[in-house]
Amino acid sequence: MTDNTPRNSLTLLGLGDMGTALARTWLAAGHRITVWNRTAAKAEALAAEGADVATSPAEAVAASRLVVLCLLDDASIGSALQGVDLTGKDLVNLTTGTPAEGRARAAWAEERGARFVDGGIMATPTMIGVPEAGGYVFYSGSRALFDTHRAALEVPAGARFVGEDPGHAALHDVALLSAMYGLFAGISHAYALIDGEDIAPKDLAPLLSEWLGAMGFFVGSTAERLTSRDFTTGVVSSLAMQVAATGTLLRTAEEQRVSPELISPYLELMRRRLTADPAAHGGEDTAGAITLLKR
Ligand code: NDP
Repeated sequence: MTDNTPRNSLTLLGLGDMGTALARTWLAAGHRITVWNRTAAKAEALAAEGADVATSPAEAVAASRLVVLCLLDDASIGSALQGVDLTGKDLVNLTTGTPAEGRARAAWAEERGARFVDGGIMATPTMIGVPEAGGYVFYSGSRALFDTHRAALEVPAGARFVGEDPGHAALHDVALLSAMYGLFAGISHAYALIDGEDIAPKDLAPLLSEWLGAMGFFVGSTAERLTSRDFTTGVVSSLAMQVAATGTLLRTAEEQRVSPELISPYLELMRRRLTADPAAHGGEDTAGAITLLKR
């Protein structure tokens, strides 16, 4: 298809906190940007900063070949782009969604004659346009689209292409976020345990950070064990020992009058793995318990 839009022009639909941060970064980098937002007032400040403001999604999409979506959720994409001609467009979807939503949206875009890449933003709006903040975006889907627009996509934050399956950007995003919430749960429980004691949270903080850093080895060692399916070689903290120790964790929670709700699911998973076959699993690393999670 012929592309008559200027090389560094792009369209952005969605000017919430994230969309506005993205728009400002592209503007600051000298890109010509056309924006649209359902609530028009949110585009006013950007118009003053040099953005072209479209009055409808169709007008916005028509303005550029590269069309970036940063709306609330997948359903809002369907409603914003209903009936809009997407033929020949390159859609980059930075709206958070599930892997299945990413795949369905890719098929939807293809049916409408557009190329599609899904994205998962690993940054907050304050990290956008601030390279030293370390934020980045996972991308997956059309490699050709990604290669065509790589320079523009690298403006707001780092760009990491994780494959042609359009579900994989969301999958990477959600895998990292899920691990983060597990970490937050453990940290929350630790602070609850000392609450009311003569231990200042700020004194526990460096110890906790240091300990979590030291335990970070679990990320790599688990990857190796899941790849080799060897859960026993070189184990120095066996599942049997760890399950025995969970009683201490639960009794301490009780003594400190803290609900065990944030840590008990993982303790229970370890116990289930052990009791299924103590002779086979007692000497394992806790990574073996992951095999119980898949439904
Ligand atoms: P906001 O809630 O600030 O903005 C939501 C945007 O979606 C607004 O532009 C809103 O328009 C628009 N919208 C909602 N429903 C519809 C609809 N039915 N039709 C058209 N437009 C609609 O969210 P953010 O900007 O913070 O987030 C945008 C995306 O980025 C989300 O998917 C979010 O998960 C993701 N993200 C956000 C991060 C963050 O820290 N903020 C971090 C990583 C990802 P209107 O102004 O009219 O309400």
